[in-house]
Amino acid sequence: MTKQQAEKKTVKFETEVSKLLDIVANSLYTEKEIFLRELISNSSDACEKLRYVSQTDSSLNKTNQFEIRIHIHEKNKTITITDNGIGMNEQDMQSNLGTIAKSGTEDFIKKMGDKKGDINQIGKFGVGFYSSFMVSDQVVVRSKKYDSEISFLWTSDGKGTFSIEKTEYSKVGTEITLSVKKDENEFLSKYKIEEIVKKYSDFVPFPIFVSSEDDKKEKKDKEEKEIQVNSAEAIWLKEKSKIKDEDYKNFYNQTSSFYDEPLKTIHFKAEGVVNYTSLLFLPKSQPQDLYHPDRKNNLKLYVNKVFISDKLDTLIPAWLRFIPGVVDTEDLSLNISREILQNNAVINKISSALTKRVLKEISDLKKKNKIEFEEFWKNFGPVIKEGLYEFNDFHDKIFNFTVFNCSENNEMITLDDYVTKYSNDNKKIYYISGENRENLMNSPQMELFKNKKINVLLVTDPVDEFWMPMKMKFKDYEFTSITKGEIDIGENPKNEKDTKESKEVSDFIKYLKDHLKDKVKDVKISKRLTKSASCLVADENDMDMHLKKLMAANNQTTNDEKRILEINTDHSLVLKVQSLNKEQKDKFSEILYDHAKLMEGENLDDPKKYTNLITELVSL
Ligand code: ADP
Repeated sequence: MTKQQAEKKTVKFETEVSKLLDIVANSLYTEKEIFLRELISNSSDACEKLRYVSQTDSSLNKTNQFEIRIHIHEKNKTITITDNGIGMNEQDMQSNLGTIAKSGTEDFIKKMGDKKGDINQIGKFGVGFYSSFMVSDQVVVRSKKYDSEISFLWTSDGKGTFSIEKTEYSKVGTEITLSVKKDENEFLSKYKIEEIVKKYSDFVPFPIFVSSEDDKKEKKDKEEKEIQVNSAEAIWLKEKSKIKDEDYKNFYNQTSSFYDEPLKTIHFKAEGVVNYTSLLFLPKSQPQDLYHPDRKNNLKLYVNKVFISDKLDTLIPAWLRFIPGVVDTEDLSLNISREILQNNAVINKISSALTKRVLKEISDLKKKNKIEFEEFWKNFGPVIKEGLYEFNDFHDKIFNFTVFNCSENNEMITLDDYVTKYSNDNKKIYYISGENRENLMNSPQMELFKNKKINVLLVTDPVDEFWMPMKMKFKDYEFTSITKGEIDIGENPKNEKDTKESKEVSDFIKYLKDHLKDKVKDVKISKRLTKSASCLVADENDMDMHLKKLMAANNQTTNDEKRILEINTDHSLVLKVQSLNKEQKDKFSEILYDHAKLMEGENLDDPKKYTNLITELVSL
């Protein structure tokens, strides 16, 4: 055994990678050509990283001669992609080409594994390097990192394991060789490859050369110069009039995880306090990992066309993390360190300006195209509203287009619509939160509001339940949950009756309070029920009921304060129980609590008992 063989190590892919590879290799995904886009994109990132490092590290030679080469060997049936970027050492290979750092992978695999997922999701999800296995049955990577003397070889057939060993690769950078599968011979055509490069990677900022073995033979005597296939221009610095929609789309696909068309392209140059050019996109669909805790924003920062970072969370607020694009500024120095960037006045100014601009575009979208806006809002509204849960200067701008479903007229309205079209004397914005419109409209707490045609916002995004109580007010209107505390909606015939509340009723309430004291915090005569016998509400300063359920469903602990039982003293069921003797009351009054629980859509501890009691009560 030679020394080299002895050092070869074989490693199992992470379970998730194995599953992913299985899906990728056997997929019937039609656009297999995207593998090249993924590999070129990795090469381009590698070149950008080395360019950045060489700018900041004075001990390194500054180089600007970055390039990506693709070579086809028809006879050997291989495609080789070479770059002179940052390269990988053994550790990099092991962790980058054996695991998946991408958030949302688990969900993705599950969906695809269950065959529930749409096959096009592969393209949308962007399986990166692993997409090589869509067209090849053997991948060999040779690489030398810029700061290393040793080079390494990574090999795998994509079936469970990969191996890493030392090799002799003299140049800094990476070379990836794919052995093309039998049925994928079309990728051994130079013209096909050139077409794919132009289609997906035209704006990659480094020259891409395509050559083939057959070519080489032909040109041996002619000494022809290699021709660059892509334009390699920074599209964001080009004049808008010279950019086609198709170019924007390709750039969008290249820089984001979206492979469809953007909903809106926002391309502008800002001059003044800070100078920068920005090309941003509003996406049409949700990225897979939108709600994953590791999800970062999707903006790339450049300084004079030099890539600086794509991990800068101060560049745009987290609640706009779905917006891909680039920002290029002249106002930062090229060798600025990533740490300093985190707290930098120029970045903060750019961030604020970008945010304003994006919010304005969304506002315009709402005005100009209702249907597109509604779709956009469905996808991203809940994320944008996270911006209302934090302290910032953008609340009013977010409110410009934030819409809610409401009980009157079943329309989507803004808060401004609410306080103008549906104003009420109490200066309150009433809301109720729950699963969906139908449930909420049938809630007992809605009864009086429906009767009086007082509009109530129907809140079905959990995020609203967090920011609304915190925000407290919109203009001079107070956010008021109708499932919490007392309600007072002006003249109410029941109020008068309440004041003249008979001794009989007050004794009954007193009795219920005592009898149900283990189950409820208090028992009150309801002002909000007109049809149902009873309902539950949260006490004024307690957590709202639906929020509590949400938190419990997410295993978050909440105080287990009890709720308040409200009863409708006009209701025949209540009157019936009230008319019973002490012994019967002891037996039947629990019905009123169980009834309220059922109205909340909750399970009863003993449903049979409840049914039997009702049947018995009716025949009394
Ligand atoms: P992603 O590019 O989304 O991170 P990939 O699966 O495409 O995911 O690549 C995984 C990682 O492997 C990259 O993030 C990078 O660190 C490394 N890598 C891939 N290709 C290259 C390359 N040509 N040069 C240097 N590093 C690379």
